[in-house]
Amino acid sequence: MVSTVDTWELARLGHEQSGEATLASFSRLLDGLPAQAESLVQWSLVGQTDSLQRRFITLRADATVRLVCQRCLSEFELPLHVETRLQLVETEAEIEAEETGEDDPDALDQVLGSSFFDVLSLVEDELILALPYVPKHEVCPSLPKELDSSEGGDTGRPSPFAVLAKLKKD
Ligand SMILES: [Zn+2]
Repeated sequence: MVSTVDTWELARLGHEQSGEATLASFSRLLDGLPAQAESLVQWSLVGQTDSLQRRFITLRADATVRLVCQRCLSEFELPLHVETRLQLVETEAEIEAEETGEDDPDALDQVLGSSFFDVLSLVEDELILALPYVPKHEVCPSLPKELDSSEGGDTGRPSPFAVLAKLKKD
């Protein structure tokens, strides 16, 4: 199982490398989540060097995580897809210089390149960022439609008792 990548070679050659890892191996991602189904996280990393000799990597990763819906408290599977383009730098100092410099909205995030780049750690960081802050079903399946309020407060929502009365009648 590939877990380190030579980002310099990847960028120089414009190559792509891909691999997969078991979801269970991402312990930081799964911290606080319910027990997960056995599944694989797929990733790919594409290198690039532009005409200014700047080097980049584009990471893509797909995973499916099991989350607890914060509305109905049942578990559901959420597919996560991440895609991010990062500029490779050679020293931590370059990253710090960038962060204290002028804010350039077009500037890409930077990452320290390496001949033994820990790609799974980057995959895990990106998946963590992709987790919803408040996980929810789009429509909770365990509730009758009438009880499943959409976003927002109680305004306009029928009282649960009225709905139950209606269900009994039908
Ligand atoms: Zn739900």
